[in-house]
Amino acid sequence: MFRKKLNSDKVLDAIERRNLLAGKMALSCAGLVCIHFLIDFLNGYYQSATFDFFIAAALFSIYKINRLKYYLAAKIWGLISMNLAFLLYACIVPKEVGIFLYYFPLMAASSALFGPAEKKLRYTFIALPFALLLLLLVPDFGIWKEYGTYSAPDTKMFFVINSISSGIIMIMCIDFMQKLNETSEEQLQQLAVEVKAKNEDLEKTNTELDRFLYSTSHDLRSPLSSIKGLINIARYDTADKKILGYFNMMIDRVNHLENFIKDIIDYSKNARTELRQEAVDFKSLISEVIDNLKFIEGADRIEFTNDVTNDHPVQADKGRLSIILTNLMANAIKYHDVRKELRWIRVNVSNSNGAVKLIVSDNGSGISEEHQQRIFEMFYRGTLQSNGSGLGLYIVKQAVEKMQGSIHVESKPGDGASFFISVPVS
Ligand code: ADP
Repeated sequence: MFRKKLNSDKVLDAIERRNLLAGKMALSCAGLVCIHFLIDFLNGYYQSATFDFFIAAALFSIYKINRLKYYLAAKIWGLISMNLAFLLYACIVPKEVGIFLYYFPLMAASSALFGPAEKKLRYTFIALPFALLLLLLVPDFGIWKEYGTYSAPDTKMFFVINSISSGIIMIMCIDFMQKLNETSEEQLQQLAVEVKAKNEDLEKTNTELDRFLYSTSHDLRSPLSSIKGLINIARYDTADKKILGYFNMMIDRVNHLENFIKDIIDYSKNARTELRQEAVDFKSLISEVIDNLKFIEGADRIEFTNDVTNDHPVQADKGRLSIILTNLMANAIKYHDVRKELRWIRVNVSNSNGAVKLIVSDNGSGISEEHQQRIFEMFYRGTLQSNGSGLGLYIVKQAVEKMQGSIHVESKPGDGASFFISVPVS
């Protein structure tokens, strides 16, 4: 979000700069036309001088409108008035004077004045002078041409002057674009440096946070184990059923807290540690996971099957695979369907095209469509039946993504759930 804001600030700057430069360009062109006015006037070409006067006035009005911050209006008015003025001007003087030359800088100006968000206007205003140029050059257009009486040397002189002026305006337009590019490039470089510094800061803070989380969670574990031990000892000192009930509740809460801490440690381990490649024998890994989970309530009534289609160990991150399988299978046990006589959990492992595919399925309570969208979110619990932290599947997803893999769920409420994982392996 921060980066987005930073970028939009810079984009605004670029638009502002383009508009300010446009104003300056209009003023410079007005100055140039004033010189034309003087030349025409001193040489007795009053009709041309009158045109020069109106063109200079139009350019000055563009500058003023721009100053009032009606940027778009200034540009549109400026380009329309200039295109029409040069058309009329070209009609009253002979073609050899070269008024049509001004359409080239007008095309350049149109491409320089409109930013990326105004592409349609840019192309329209490039097309307009191009069309007028063709109109003037191709069918020898000009209704008032005979009015102009230009001597041959004057025609030559005005052609040279117009060539120079249009050349100067053209160079101004190119310079204008160059300036915009240079400043944008400088700002991009500055932005890249800023983003890099911010990223480094963020990475540092993240690492510190992870380290803090990891060590705090570890530190909390041992007092919790002591509390559990003390409660267990205290149980032997009383036969009072009420007090024993309280002790059971306390043990239950401590277990809950322990599981939460274990989740945080798993999360932190996944975030902090790099990928490790080691030989993974899925058959023994799954048996290990089942052994660790068989004390979860209800696990003794569930039939576990595993179907590992390849017997060769694969090179993968065993620690993360163990976290993934443990969380998925613990969930499959927790969310079993008490109404079903036969309860089962199946783990299927296959290896194809450089990826291991794991499917953990159960015939438990299932997950509704609405929850399927969100179960991988942090702290999301899809059912009141859950007494967990809502972190399990979030950690699973993080671990899968760290291994460049993918995960998705398919489920029908009442029928059970299947989690499909694919992880690249060597
Ligand atoms: P927790 O189990 O602590 O609530 P998880 O992130 O492990 O958190 O799971 C999120 C939610 O997804 C659970 O609350 C539950 O609603 C749903 N869920 C996960 N696995 C299963 C499953 N095998 N069967 C039914 N629901 C499941």
